[in-house]
Amino acid sequence: MVPNGKFVYLQTFGCQMNVHDSEKMLSILAENDYRSTEDIHRADIILLNTCSVRAKPEHKVYSVLGRLKKLKEKNHHVIIGVGGCVAQHEGERLLDRIGHLDLVFGTHNLHRLPDLISNVQASRKPKCAVEFYDEVKSLDIFPAPPDGEKVKSYVTIMQGCDNFCSFCIVPYVRGREKSRPSGNILGEVEALSERDVREVTLLGQNVNSYGKDLSGGLTFPQLLAHINEIQGLWRIRFTTCHPRDISEELIMAFEKLEKVCKHIHLPFQSGSDKILERMGRGYTRKQYMEIGERLREVCPEIGITADVMVGFPGEDERDFHETLDLIQRVQFDNLFSFKYSPRKGTKAALFPDQIDESTQSRRLEVLQDLQKRITLKRNRALQGRYEEILVEGPSKGAKEEMTGRTDSNKVVNFKGSRDLIGQLVTVRIEEGYANSLKGKII
Ligand code: SAM
Ligand code: SF4
Repeated sequence: MVPNGKFVYLQTFGCQMNVHDSEKMLSILAENDYRSTEDIHRADIILLNTCSVRAKPEHKVYSVLGRLKKLKEKNHHVIIGVGGCVAQHEGERLLDRIGHLDLVFGTHNLHRLPDLISNVQASRKPKCAVEFYDEVKSLDIFPAPPDGEKVKSYVTIMQGCDNFCSFCIVPYVRGREKSRPSGNILGEVEALSERDVREVTLLGQNVNSYGKDLSGGLTFPQLLAHINEIQGLWRIRFTTCHPRDISEELIMAFEKLEKVCKHIHLPFQSGSDKILERMGRGYTRKQYMEIGERLREVCPEIGITADVMVGFPGEDERDFHETLDLIQRVQFDNLFSFKYSPRKGTKAALFPDQIDESTQSRRLEVLQDLQKRITLKRNRALQGRYEEILVEGPSKGAKEEMTGRTDSNKVVNFKGSRDLIGQLVTVRIEEGYANSLKGKII
């Protein structure tokens, strides 16, 4: 047990998975009497939960760590720890490189955090824990919010990935695909709904292959059907889906299961068959577009978003234009777009035909410009429509405005009071902007 009344400062880099892992860390540390603080100078423990999907977030971690050196010189008792994907990838090397670092803990070791901290405190020696386990205990850490405090919550349904796309570090830093037993997932969602959580987002690197590693368990659409029955829960979202594993059963879930929100995040990465093949994605542009068409046929109002990369090794102007063409044809509601970033240890990092940074930047700008216009057009097309939104809290932009999301996952800001938080309200869409909608409550 850690001594009473200590403070932890935690900084998170990267995706929703990391955000949720950070919630888990704070929750197990809270059980050991650590309180979270925003003031780094007050902290007894400083933790960085890191991301290594691209070079940029990884570099940021090193620059934050560099700045922490002075703080450690002033306060020898503070414990500095690095968790997440960079920690998993670098392991002991991080301790060798950063003299003022006390703890490195990998993606399968969150559940050991209080013990690891106690160990460092007792021994005053740095510690590294980056083992992978067959049973991933952190899958079952459940950061329970107090009653009525949260409207929506993440729920981990699986960890790791078996796909080994040639550009991606995830299978190396998160381990093989491990599905969480469905009983534990259902138990967590029930407990959340009893605490007035109305929306859950099921998290996994490839949620639609859920259950393949569990013998005789539920498939992902079956899991959705069970969650759909949970009393008090109103909305179900999930991320991320892989186009290769999209089944007709999953597509039909958008129509059949009333709590499943009409939004899918379906990364396509490239519109060129040559590049998709080199990425090892396992589908063609035609197959991807057919999935998009089928989704809109079954559910015309569905929001479709995706991830895409520019400047993958060997991408020429023609490949890039095929990506732009796919974007035009599918008409995404929004896109997360990245410059390809070589990751040490992945296959693509060794490809000889890497693309220079200025070509990548130019392509990214062209692509983002195209998508901006499409998003604006799609948002404006909603003007005059009535949408049901779940009110999440005050909007960041303007005073007296509340914010929430449509079923299709678009942010809507509207004039309203705090007592609407946690309710489903109908708004008339007055204005469609590039990043959000403006609504009027009716
Ligand atoms: N599992 C998801 C899938 O299959 O699409 C993606 C998970 S990954 C953490 C999130 C996004 O980061 C990917 O969809 C991809 O667009 C991007 N990404 C992954 N590796 C990358 C790399 N080496 N360089 C640039 N972007 C990358
Ligand atoms: Fe990475 Fe591919 Fe797995 Fe997604 S499916 S996490 S991109 S290896």
